[in-house]
Amino acid sequence: MILDEMIKKIQESKRIVVFAHVNPDGDAMGSSLGMYLALKGLNKDVDLVIPEYAKCFEFLPGIDEIKKEGTGKYDLAIALDCASQQRLADPTSAFPNSDANMQIDHHVSNSMYADFNYVDPVSPACAQILIKVLNYWNIEVTKDIGKCLLTGIITDTGGFAYEGVSAETFEIVAGLLNKGINISNIYKKVLQTRTKEKFELIKLATNRLEFYQNDKVAFTYITLDDEKRLNTGFGDYEGCVEIGRDIEGVEVSVFMREVATGGFKVSMRSNEYVNVSDICLMFGGGGHVKAAGCTITTGTLEQIRDKIINQIKLYLK
Ligand code: 5GP
Ligand code: MN
Repeated sequence: MILDEMIKKIQESKRIVVFAHVNPDGDAMGSSLGMYLALKGLNKDVDLVIPEYAKCFEFLPGIDEIKKEGTGKYDLAIALDCASQQRLADPTSAFPNSDANMQIDHHVSNSMYADFNYVDPVSPACAQILIKVLNYWNIEVTKDIGKCLLTGIITDTGGFAYEGVSAETFEIVAGLLNKGINISNIYKKVLQTRTKEKFELIKLATNRLEFYQNDKVAFTYITLDDEKRLNTGFGDYEGCVEIGRDIEGVEVSVFMREVATGGFKVSMRSNEYVNVSDICLMFGGGGHVKAAGCTITTGTLEQIRDKIINQIKLYLK
């Protein structure tokens, strides 16, 4: 079984580096920190590389040990919650240059880019897969590891609200609560509380929301200038795409964020039947059936908006 081979590879490796995807969400942060802490527990010489992350994750165990980039040669690189190598937050290309690399993920659009790929698109969070892997491996999920992994499960399931949530999710979470982890505290920190700056940004995106295609598509955006003016922090745009998604009758919500390198980062969410991962794949991105993204570097805001909406139109009933 692939998992046995992966465990063997990890056991043989001394110097290991762990990565997650760019703009890391709670699942990317929680899964990579969980893996990092587990490897440290095995006395591996391990680096966790995450160049940038949102302030709300600062309570997570191990966060102070995160490095901005990898150094030197690694025996093994491990990517968590990352659908493709282009999405990996790996500024020094340590992943492809390691002696071996592997990934654990749950995106349908995963491109199987590593030497060892463990991908389960049915799992609602990468962190949920990781708990199963650690259990299979007989590695203790300590309270600290559990806090990280519960953060991943809570965020990627929208607080246990999304479709991928199963009885197994609750069984796993029950195991974590039995360790004394405070679920309410984590929920508050990563899903509920927002900074004043973030609130102002959400307000702006809400005011700008427009409807297209008989109100089945909701669209909003923010620019670099908005973020500068409102003095927002990294990741404060999280949540903007859900504004449109949660309006009755909307099938697809589109949120665009201007990026410093030119163009826009596009986030898409669907409610019932549109596969937004397929749509984003056409623009070089990907993700999940009901939550996906891509980056479009050419065109004005209006041109990109129209291009996307014309594509979505083909999927609407
Ligand atoms: P978000 O809209 O929150 O940035 O991303 C939603 C989901 O789509 C996440 O699971 C994320 O990993 C994935 N995703 C977002 N942007 C991209 C992209 O450019 N490429 C790929 N492959 N996946 C993406
Ligand atoms: Mn995830």
